[in-house]
Amino acid sequence: MEKEYDYLVVGSGVTGMTISLLLADCGFRVLLLEKSAVIGGSMQRFHRCGIPFDTGFHFTAALTGCMGDMVRMLKFSPGLETIPIRTNLYLADRKKLFHLPRGRSRVRDYFCSLYPAEAEKIRRYFETEKRIFENTPLFNLREDGFAMSGIQQEDFLSLKTYLDSLGISGEVRSLLASFTSCHGTPCGEISLANHCRVSFGLLDDLVRVKGSGGAFVEAFRRRAAELGIEIRTRCTIEECIPSERLRCHRVHLTDGSTVSFRDCVMTIHPLAVAELLPERFRSGLFLERIREFEEGCGFFTLFGVLEGPCETFRQELTSSFSTSDIDKVMTPDHPDATATGIMLTEETGLDGAQYRTVTAFENVFAPETAQWNATRTGRRGTEYDRYKQRKVREMERKIYELYPEFEGRLRILDSASMLTYRDYLSPCGSAYGIRQKMGQHNLFGKLPIRNFYVAGQSALLPGAMGAMLSAFVIWRKMVGEKLYLRKINEVAERDEP
Ligand SMILES: Cc1cc2nc3c(=O)[nH]c(=O)nc-3n(C[C@H](O)[C@H](O)[C@H](O)COP(=O)(O)OP(=O)(O)OC[C@H]3O[C@@H](n4cnc5c(N)ncnc54)[C@H](O)[C@@H]3O)c2cc1C
Repeated sequence: MEKEYDYLVVGSGVTGMTISLLLADCGFRVLLLEKSAVIGGSMQRFHRCGIPFDTGFHFTAALTGCMGDMVRMLKFSPGLETIPIRTNLYLADRKKLFHLPRGRSRVRDYFCSLYPAEAEKIRRYFETEKRIFENTPLFNLREDGFAMSGIQQEDFLSLKTYLDSLGISGEVRSLLASFTSCHGTPCGEISLANHCRVSFGLLDDLVRVKGSGGAFVEAFRRRAAELGIEIRTRCTIEECIPSERLRCHRVHLTDGSTVSFRDCVMTIHPLAVAELLPERFRSGLFLERIREFEEGCGFFTLFGVLEGPCETFRQELTSSFSTSDIDKVMTPDHPDATATGIMLTEETGLDGAQYRTVTAFENVFAPETAQWNATRTGRRGTEYDRYKQRKVREMERKIYELYPEFEGRLRILDSASMLTYRDYLSPCGSAYGIRQKMGQHNLFGKLPIRNFYVAGQSALLPGAMGAMLSAFVIWRKMVGEKLYLRKINEVAERDEP
């Protein structure tokens, strides 16, 4: 018998999980489809030798402010605990290591003390970043009125133009622009506003969630069971059956069933969205727009464990830039220019023992592995294996430069290229979806099928927080202002002391 739902959600990453819970919490019947065998997308964890590792969620801004509000709305908290993480920046070409203090004002004062001649410019940058962040209505879920109305003039000014106008160059520029590695767009292409929206929280308080993305997935499972969300894995849309007036309320699924629904939300990459839409809704212009999106960077990641005791080990993130010219790092034109995040964490293995893990992720671009594009994981041949071994050796050298005490004790358990991520997650294997470029009209909101919406990390802002925010905006659009504000206020009142 054909099952009926209010909403069909495609993709079970953090966007799909968020919007499914928000809709189900309003009393709607939700069906969540995931093409893989497991839910969670980039939030999934996996085990090697019984030790847990992250797929694509190593750190985030503290679960306060907007991120905290979203987590409360999902009723995940107090289930999610955070671990403060020390952040270090390393400019390898200058052999300079910076230990960032906690709190934006301390970071600002630290930079000013290092570069007294540039102190005034540094202060102005921090003021601008704060102003932009605070004046972005999107970050205030209780804001009355449609959240996207808050476009600022800095949305049309590049980070590069702004830094040039302040006369900020050299090391100070590298430090202030370092979180470009968290949206993957060069300073000349990212708007000052979007850079600040990503950088603000990370400069202020960078944390890891205990259990990482796995804790989100577990919290989602618990809530999904409470709210009666139906989840189908290894399942996606086989064919949309268009109805009248540019709508579609029925689809055939790859599990052989047919379901009907009121509205559908796609939380997948724009290229994957285009693939699922029926021919007649994929106009030349629509496809052209999608093909014009440039893909952001991906990561080559190594996963290792430290053997034996290590007095100096502490949970921290060090971002190592091979060159202080950050723009070179963010484009495929300079393959030797790299940004490598080295994340040290303490994990509990399946055997209950404590392990010290080292996960290093280095930005890469699609051309690096293009010659193996036609292959699948596990069947790429010896040339590819040699490529991976070379990458691992290079990254190990970068780790030992910063942590010489790890040499001879770091056991590499696995590694993943951009193609590995492609095979398990999104069509291109990029870490943040499409590149967030200034002035670009991203695929977000309504699709050519009028009752189909799109959200996700390529919509508004990258990263888990950007993906979740996109889900909140779409949820607001779908359920209407009245219900949205009622639900938001319900939670706010519940949590007020
Ligand atoms: C290596 C790496 C490191 C990262 N590190 C961080 C970090 O430290 N902090 C941070 O905030 N962000 C990080 N990110 C980015 C972050 O993980 C993403 O921005 C966010 O998780 C994206 O969520 P999403 O739901 O939009 O997409 P995804 O997580 O990609 O989820 C999409 C889901 O849809 C499924 N799907 C795809 N096509 C279909 C289809 N046709 N039908 C059904 N299902 C489909 C996929 O299998 C997947 O499960 C990282 C990403 C990577 C890859």
